[in-house]
Amino acid sequence: MQTFDLIVIGSGPGGYKAALSAAQRGAKVALVEKSLPGGNCLNQGCIPKKTLLHLASLIEDMLHLQGRGLVGQVHGDFTAAMHHKDEVVNGIRNNFPIWLRRLGVHIFNGHARFVAPYEVEVAHDDPNIAHPHHQHLSAPKIIIATGSAPRTLAECPFDGNTVISSREFMFELDQLPETMLFVGGGTIGVELAYLMHQFGAKVRLIEQADRLLPTARIPDHACASLERKFKRIGLDYRLNLGVAHTRVEQGKAHITFSDGTHAIFDKVLVAVGRTPVVSGLNLDQAGIALNEQGYIATSEYLETNVPGIYAIGDVKPGPMTANAALHDAKVAAENAVNGNQITFNYFKVPMVIHSAMEIAAVGLTEEQAEAAGFTPEAARTSFGGSGKARAYHDTEGFVEVIHDAETGQLLGGCVVGPEAGEQIQMMTAACQSDRGLWFFKELSYSHPSWCEEFETAIEPCTTAFSKSEKEIFMPGIYAGHE
Ligand SMILES: Cc1cc2nc3c(=O)[nH]c(=O)nc-3n(C[C@H](O)[C@H](O)[C@H](O)COP(=O)(O)OP(=O)(O)OC[C@H]3O[C@@H](n4cnc5c(N)ncnc54)[C@H](O)[C@@H]3O)c2cc1C
Repeated sequence: MQTFDLIVIGSGPGGYKAALSAAQRGAKVALVEKSLPGGNCLNQGCIPKKTLLHLASLIEDMLHLQGRGLVGQVHGDFTAAMHHKDEVVNGIRNNFPIWLRRLGVHIFNGHARFVAPYEVEVAHDDPNIAHPHHQHLSAPKIIIATGSAPRTLAECPFDGNTVISSREFMFELDQLPETMLFVGGGTIGVELAYLMHQFGAKVRLIEQADRLLPTARIPDHACASLERKFKRIGLDYRLNLGVAHTRVEQGKAHITFSDGTHAIFDKVLVAVGRTPVVSGLNLDQAGIALNEQGYIATSEYLETNVPGIYAIGDVKPGPMTANAALHDAKVAAENAVNGNQITFNYFKVPMVIHSAMEIAAVGLTEEQAEAAGFTPEAARTSFGGSGKARAYHDTEGFVEVIHDAETGQLLGGCVVGPEAGEQIQMMTAACQSDRGLWFFKELSYSHPSWCEEFETAIEPCTTAFSKSEKEIFMPGIYAGHE
């Protein structure tokens, strides 16, 4: 039996960040991973996707600037792009364990399962090893970060070849299909459908709700921008539509849609959500409870019902993003090492969608702010007046800053347009400052830049506040709040 201060199960963004944070706080940490280091995020999620989407948006930019100083047609080579993606992922993955070990984390390869509340067996279930050696680890604190897997759809079951999930897409697809159906207009659906469209596949995307990104915490007009752009670039998306039945014959998917129509596709990617990975953990040996939806139930400190055992990332309720998992990791590591002190707050965590339009948001939407008792006002500007946007010949999109009309308190915001995922970091910092709207007013910006549009957006509001008798300079919604 080897003893540690903390055992972390799973090396995705939640797990590795928690292990690292705890080690940096002086804890002796074991990190157990049964598969590829880096979890879904590195191997089949964020990193490979972003690598490919970067190429997709370059294709779009090059075509968009044809005749404006650029000549020659550009088109994507999907097979080469997938090799490039593999190189990027392998490069990070090869360094990953070295980096973690250097920072003091003890890494164990194998399947972790509980044998008692504070005891974990690391099993080496490799069929090639005749007498696998199982290790036993114990610690007074454990963080479970085992992530999630693609949700199945009964009407369109995965067969791993024609009907696939994002997993097979990232690991196995190396030829561009001629036709491809994407089932589910959530983040993964809108991102991968755009990617394949840019590489030249004939794509159809269906969503059963009445807007794309139906569960994302973004305003309707942000979705409308994406839908407009899809129409403009000829990406065929259909709302209020599902799959009624699927038949795979000779490698093609024969789909009957919920409106009774039929179509045949070379590949179908089903992206209708993800389910937490809890099987094989022997949670009952530790007495750890799940909620009704099958996620590990946690408190505001991310602690399970068993004291000292925490769950973070996709395996517990909350946003299923790497951004949220990284936030959880800091919360749980701090609580595990120094006692329960800080609570999670997903309003602090930005979310980003990388599709035909980049969409990023943080904090509250106008509707949520109103429901929370504020008097929300949206300060908005489009990129039409931005020097940088004009220089890039890319003026689609907007910046929106939600604040309380009575006090100037910052409540949240949304950016739609180029580098929205970078711009949102500024909004996130502003929401945590104690200067409210004046955060944007007092800053010196580089010019021309995307972020200077935050000041353009809020200027009429700060001017109106200055002329009013209102008490201003209220702290941001998150300032001083943990
Ligand atoms: C295609 C795609 C694109 C995405 N893009 C983004 C994006 O751009 N931005 C973003 O924020 N999010 C993105 N996500 C979501 C993001 O990948 C997940 O939210 C994130 O990886 C969750 O992190 P995690 O640490 O909870 O678990 P994971 O990353 O799922 O890692 C869990 C790890 O635990 C290991 N494990 C499981 N059980 C055991 C066990 N019993 N013993 C040992 N190890 C175990 C697994 O092998 C895995 O390595 C994307 C997801 C997909 C599918």
